[in-house]
Amino acid sequence: MIKVENISKSFGKNEVLKGIDAKFDAGKVSMIIGGSGSGKSTLLKCIVGLHEPDEGEVFFDKQEFTSLDFEQRVPIRKEIGMLFQNSALFDSMTVEQNILFALDMFSDMGKSEKIDRANYCLKRVNLAGTNELYPSELSGGMKKRVGIARAICMSPKYLFCDEPNSGLDPATAILIDELIQDLTEEYQCTTIVVTHDMNSVMGVGDYVMFLYKGKKYWEGSNQDILRSEAEALNDFVFASPLMNAAKKVL
Ligand code: ADP
Ligand code: MG
Repeated sequence: MIKVENISKSFGKNEVLKGIDAKFDAGKVSMIIGGSGSGKSTLLKCIVGLHEPDEGEVFFDKQEFTSLDFEQRVPIRKEIGMLFQNSALFDSMTVEQNILFALDMFSDMGKSEKIDRANYCLKRVNLAGTNELYPSELSGGMKKRVGIARAICMSPKYLFCDEPNSGLDPATAILIDELIQDLTEEYQCTTIVVTHDMNSVMGVGDYVMFLYKGKKYWEGSNQDILRSEAEALNDFVFASPLMNAAKKVL
């Protein structure tokens, strides 16, 4: 479980987050949605400690995180898996080296154990045998899956994915969503996905939080979205022609 209380973050005069409260449960995929520039990535970065919030607290289960110093954060960091917006693979490293890098940083496994673990994770994301390939030799969907393999190699308790579907075709996007959902169940981890893809939200979102003008404007399940009367949420959701068509059928 992750809980945020009263998170605020400004960049200069730009007040991006204005007192966000939310709770994200273990074993579920929670989604943070909102328009471009609404602060989704900023919130995610405040939660994982890549940004320091100006105000507010973040709890990883019982442990408050923002008040901890670098050293004190290490045990929680080891329990976090993160898939970055652009997959963030090291281009000069092979697939296997990209995963070993994370294990070298965070685990005390021996060399052969690390390789076994890398192979296991690659198999888990359906990329067995790609160890020696370089990122430039992979499709967008494959890169995401390597990013996911790297994110899960430490068996994370907390999994964060920033726009896991960006740049993918719809069929591949669904496969990535299903993978994230399966892994969340398997590890019973607290998963937070940032997205503006309504397809994903309708497919996966157990809990959805809509950010608008720096505030949590709406929260609920993906099924509640279609019945919501909240204007800014409707404007966001039904800007998609597909969603608009769905609403007419309901
Ligand atoms: P989203 O992920 O919802 O598209 P972001 O969280 O990336 O939005 O950005 C929200 C706002 O914060 C934007 O106005 C963006 O320009 C600003 N912002 C994000 N990161 C920084 C930064 N490191 N320095 C200054 N401004 C930033
Ligand atoms: Mg973003």
